[in-house]
Amino acid sequence: MEDAAALDHRHVWHPFTDMDSWLADEPLVVERAEGCWLIDTAGRRYLDANASLWVNVHGHARPELDAALREQLDAAAHTTLLGLTNPPAARLAARLAALAPPGLERVFFSESGASAVEVALKMAYAYWLFRGEGQRSLFVSADGAYHGDTVGSVSVGHIDVFHDTYRPLLFPTHGFAQPHCYRCPLGLTYPSCDLACADTLDDVLVRHGDRVAAVVIEPLVQGAAGIITAPDGHLRRVAEITRRHGVLLIADEVATGFGRTGPMFACEAEEVVPDLMAVGKGMTGGYLPMSATLASAAIFDAFTDARQVFFHGHSYSGNPLAAAVALANLALFDSDATLARGRALGEVLAAETKRLGGLDHVGDIRRRGVMCGIELVADRATRAPYASEARVGARVCRRARDLGVVIRPLGDTIVLMPALVMAPDEVAFCVDVLTRAITEVTG
Ligand SMILES: *Cc1c(COP(=O)(O)O)cnc(C)c1O
Repeated sequence: MEDAAALDHRHVWHPFTDMDSWLADEPLVVERAEGCWLIDTAGRRYLDANASLWVNVHGHARPELDAALREQLDAAAHTTLLGLTNPPAARLAARLAALAPPGLERVFFSESGASAVEVALKMAYAYWLFRGEGQRSLFVSADGAYHGDTVGSVSVGHIDVFHDTYRPLLFPTHGFAQPHCYRCPLGLTYPSCDLACADTLDDVLVRHGDRVAAVVIEPLVQGAAGIITAPDGHLRRVAEITRRHGVLLIADEVATGFGRTGPMFACEAEEVVPDLMAVGKGMTGGYLPMSATLASAAIFDAFTDARQVFFHGHSYSGNPLAAAVALANLALFDSDATLARGRALGEVLAAETKRLGGLDHVGDIRRRGVMCGIELVADRATRAPYASEARVGARVCRRARDLGVVIRPLGDTIVLMPALVMAPDEVAFCVDVLTRAITEVTG
């Protein structure tokens, strides 16, 4: 049998990957994983410092999660949610409704974050249509937003490098100013700015509000934009403006949900209650693909009052294996006090990454909970970025891999996103490696 590396190079097309660079390099073939560590086919160990792309919560190979999966496997691997139900999916829906901001009582299952957002967009539009306001077909989202990679979720995204190619396929949306204090689009400084970036949403809604179905927001942190942490009060201001214009609010908690920013959901930090909420990534503890769209009773009732069907759903909606492991994931949050552990880990990250602030080319260190971005710049005084062709972020991460840490950049922002259970000495190791990699590449 040919080895996995050769077969991969011949046949696999990797997601969000520059395949020229991929094919020019030796692939890292991960065979096993335990705790916060990945083990390759040669037995080498690497710290999983991005939680396997922001999904892992309690570490790999957690006995409780493995057991939940095995137990459900003895009952049924998959039965459909079209016309039937199953115990784990029903229990999980109830559990999510109980944990979510108040009023989000209806749960629609999908398999990816992009799908969960797509569902929220369709539900929001249909809500207005069924209430006689079909002219409300516009969506508004922040500049730099990332909401997934399907055509609908790309339409509400505003990251040019991901989205420009497909512009002709997308439906029109409006943006508003990105809450980015290090590179403020308005040239202002917090707190004297009084959140002027959020107020640009008001301008958009004054002009187009009667045609807008919903505002879509990544609460507290724009992930894919480069871990852009919004200033305190931004989310609440966005929610207030949205409400004042009588528009729906969709919270995309795919990245921020399940403790990643501190509370279970980022909306809690500013007591914001959205009409629709998309969750995914950490929902199964990083075990299986499952996501969900949570909807308020008002959204749900718009469909039933109009005797309308939501014509949407997938072959594997509400998969019982995924639901069973998601339930076990949530049970671990209780028995392990995972939120408190995550908050403590956030403080460890803050203390350790402070060391990086002394390096000549570290421009900004942004963090909320365990979501951390380290932006590298060509010139610290002017904040001038590197030329993108220099691929500085990618080279730093590639060097870190040789030194035993797996991370991925977003442009020249190095992302650290540990599982909520990473130990302090593992964080220290990660920052040691990063210090060396950044120094070597930028020195
Ligand atoms: C990752 C992400 C998505 C997309 O989730 P997938 O599971 O990759 O489809 C959507 N929104 C946000 C905020 C994300 O970070």
